[in-house]
Amino acid sequence: MSKKYVYLFSEGNTTMKNLLGGKGANLSEMTNIGIPIPMGFVVTTEACNKYYDENKVLPKEIVDEIHEKMDELEEITGKKFGGDSNPLLVAVRSGARASMPGMMDTILNLGLTDKGVEVLAKETGNARFAYDSYRRFIMMFSDVVKGIPSSDFNGILDELKDEKGVELDTELTEKDLKELVARYEAHYEDVMGEEFPQDPRTQLIDSVTAVFSSWDNPRANIYRRLNDIPSSWGTAVNVQEMVFGNKGDTSGSGVAFSRNPATGEHEVFAEYLMNAQGEDVVAGIRTPRPISELETEFPEIYEEFVGLLEKLENHYKDMQDIEFTIEEEKLYFLQTRNGKRTAHAALKIAVDMVEEGLITKDEALLMIDPKQLDNVLHPAFDEQAMKDAKELAVGLPASPGAATGKIAFTAADAKARHDAGERVMLVRQETSPEDIEGMIAAEGILTVRGGMTSHAAVVARGMGTPCVVGAESLRINSENKTLIANGEVYGEDDYISLEGATGSIYLGEIDTVDPEISGYFGTFMEWADEKRSLKIRTNADTPHDAQQALDFGAEGIGLTRTEHMFFAEDRLFPMRQMIMATNEEDRRKALAKILPLQKEDFKGIYETMDGKAVTIRFLDPPLHEFLPTKQSEIKELAEELEVSVEYLNDVVDDLHEFNPMMGHRGCRLSISYPEVAEMQTRAVIEAAIEVNKEKGLTIIPEIMIPLIGDVNELTYLKAVVTETADKIIADSGVDLKYLVGTMIEIPRACVLADEIALEADFFSFGTNDLTQMGFGFSRDDAGSFLKDYQDKKVYDFDPFAKFDQEGIGQFVKIAVEKGRKAKPELDLGVCGEHGGDPSSIEFFHNVGLDYVSCSPFRVPVARLAAAQAEIRNPRKK
Ligand code: ADP
Ligand code: MG
Ligand code: MG
Repeated sequence: MSKKYVYLFSEGNTTMKNLLGGKGANLSEMTNIGIPIPMGFVVTTEACNKYYDENKVLPKEIVDEIHEKMDELEEITGKKFGGDSNPLLVAVRSGARASMPGMMDTILNLGLTDKGVEVLAKETGNARFAYDSYRRFIMMFSDVVKGIPSSDFNGILDELKDEKGVELDTELTEKDLKELVARYEAHYEDVMGEEFPQDPRTQLIDSVTAVFSSWDNPRANIYRRLNDIPSSWGTAVNVQEMVFGNKGDTSGSGVAFSRNPATGEHEVFAEYLMNAQGEDVVAGIRTPRPISELETEFPEIYEEFVGLLEKLENHYKDMQDIEFTIEEEKLYFLQTRNGKRTAHAALKIAVDMVEEGLITKDEALLMIDPKQLDNVLHPAFDEQAMKDAKELAVGLPASPGAATGKIAFTAADAKARHDAGERVMLVRQETSPEDIEGMIAAEGILTVRGGMTSHAAVVARGMGTPCVVGAESLRINSENKTLIANGEVYGEDDYISLEGATGSIYLGEIDTVDPEISGYFGTFMEWADEKRSLKIRTNADTPHDAQQALDFGAEGIGLTRTEHMFFAEDRLFPMRQMIMATNEEDRRKALAKILPLQKEDFKGIYETMDGKAVTIRFLDPPLHEFLPTKQSEIKELAEELEVSVEYLNDVVDDLHEFNPMMGHRGCRLSISYPEVAEMQTRAVIEAAIEVNKEKGLTIIPEIMIPLIGDVNELTYLKAVVTETADKIIADSGVDLKYLVGTMIEIPRACVLADEIALEADFFSFGTNDLTQMGFGFSRDDAGSFLKDYQDKKVYDFDPFAKFDQEGIGQFVKIAVEKGRKAKPELDLGVCGEHGGDPSSIEFFHNVGLDYVSCSPFRVPVARLAAAQAEIRNPRKK
């Protein structure tokens, strides 16, 4: 039997998302559970892939199958597609696996022709409706299938409205709409050189093909890249009987969420318009009405609506985002999906649903994308600063968060200025899918028009960007680049700030404060902690960062970089003296000046961490990084150091390396100059002894030697460390335990991990260096060509952002196995950038590491990712 490419809704279900797309699978599921939806069928994602395989031609076998299913649909509905009586009209709707709002296109009222529209007018006794439907169809078909911009048609519409002296589409009469259809068709003929297609079957096949081809349009490609959606997924196409919300005052259409997508509050959240079709509600043409008005006007429909919404939520066990249409007082659902929500709402909904008994804690933990937590961890405006700020307007609170930026009036400006390093606020009348890059670039988004379900609102919530919509008291002119608020004029150089949770818009920049974890966020994170087996540490070089990480739930420090401390004003000079020294004695003199400062740094960190683990890495970067490069600075420094400019230049030249990433750095420095390791050991140990005494703690400092490639390097340096440390401890008369371990970041160290383990108390994988050494390209240089790799799909991702599990992961696996075999109690962690990336964390969980260490702001993300990894692949017995 040949492959099946077309499915009736009644043949599918929600588990078939890959084949039927999200929309198709959910329409099928709704059919099965008895939600009133118009019948239809799905052309599968496999048909889409086939279309691309055949060089963008829809093969005959698929065309035939579509026609057969259309015959079946005629039978089921008792209507005739393109018939002389009782005509069947359909919607052609794209629907990929993952919802891609606004990215793909929909065509409504398909099947109408010059003849068909008259039949429809006669049979419904509503010619106004018939011609309104036809003009909409001509515009959508021309735009989506033939690429004639919809703005052309909107221009023609506006012209006609001007001629007739009316403002709203709904004020146009039947005669006006007939005239409009004639003008639309004339424009189509002008552009295409042929008449508007009068065969419904041709319209249908052309439309299906167009949806497939829109999968590869630039907007879709940008959205996919942003959301990690592979192009190989393809999109499905849904062909569905039309129901009409534009049949008069007892018809309408709208959108709804089963809970509030901005706050998570358990309340129906919906907007609708009467006598409207399709996306009139979200297009910002007329201001939509709150659902409470439907309750007053049509209480029975409202009750049914609320009941169905609840039924869907209970069925899917998640907040639903639905579309509905009322045709002459009969209610239909047209779509359902798990609703996009802000991070705050997501947390509240997850916690509420567990407390309502709808889902388990594990299900709640899996409901939230760890990356989304980033959004709740953003700073908020300082209360006082906000009170003092001048409020320009209040709009609708579309997507929470505090944002400040200079006004950008077009998406292109926003993108360009952002790329040039500016913080910008995108300010538009309303946004559309073409604005996507500007929306990504902006700190915040502000629109004058639109409701809570407008394009700007939906996209902003998805991206976690603060957004205020419908600030109707503002006037903007994107040509003159002016914003008028309360009679005052502002321009591109003015900062504005907005608070997406309240809808307030302020003049100027406002100070922000750090966020905290409390309330339902706190509850949710507690559940994550109960679940996970992977420990979460942080990378912190200062007490401030360490405190931030503790507030976010870090259990220790996995990496303190000591070199950052050397760059501080008061130590750079002795550091430079150390580098300039020509003999050990001078070097020791310079190091002695750094010792007390470094010791204070460590004490500060120990005190903040209050007895939790602290891993301190010894000096890592090549020495030339500490010297100036500009001649003017070299001259100045030579004076300060009391050496000649020539001599200093010689030193700089000497230190110059062709490939500093692989040069004199890491443990190699201390092998040349063991007195550096000695000084650092002294600082680590003395600080610990003092803090233990002063605070009554039992800190066990962890000394980490970087860049080991051979066990002999570690043996040599460990001897330096232990001799120094043991002597200090003996002299102090108190007991102190300490650990000496190493970073595993050179491929050679991975394959010889069994030898190295015998000398080490712990391994910490430095996945940044391991990635660059393993791939053979440096992180600092790769940026320029990795972009080409991704554009040309040679690599799917940037291995510095997302850990390369397949390749570099093998090194980690080998090192874990060999290390543990030689020393079962060996402690294993990760301290590279990847320690904060959810999919990488899952990998580290799976290979059996003890902890990951990441930057303070990633700690909650890591806690959740670790819990999810445990749920998917349990390690706890
Ligand atoms: P999107 O994925 O962009 O939301 P949809 O396929 O959901 O696109 O279609 C957009 C709008 O068209 C819907 O919100 C709905 O109002 C309208 N629509 C879609 N299918 C039908 C239908 N069968 N009958 C009436 N209106 C429809
Ligand atoms: Mg749409
Ligand atoms: Mg939709």
